[in-house]
Amino acid sequence: MCADERTPQRSTSSGPRKKRPFQRRKVCRFCADKQVSIDYKDPRTLRYFVSERGKIIPRRISGNCSKHQREITEAIKRARNIALLPIAGSHATP
Ligand SMILES: [Zn+2]
Repeated sequence: MCADERTPQRSTSSGPRKKRPFQRRKVCRFCADKQVSIDYKDPRTLRYFVSERGKIIPRRISGNCSKHQREITEAIKRARNIALLPIAGSHATP
């Protein structure tokens, strides 16, 4: 039996790529784009950092720097106060 030890079969190309549910940004989007301002009166921007249930997305997922994450958090809290954003938990509409 001629067993070919060196099998030409190789797992070619790149290895297995894991798909992550959240895409990580390298740079915080507010640092990257200076034109984007954090405004509590702008729920469209804030919604990027709020989950469906109204929770604030943590920094390691959103990719924000600590400085801007703080501003986001403040803005979201203000937006909640004036009912621009839902408050987590209490506003459950399926
Ligand atoms: Zn930043």
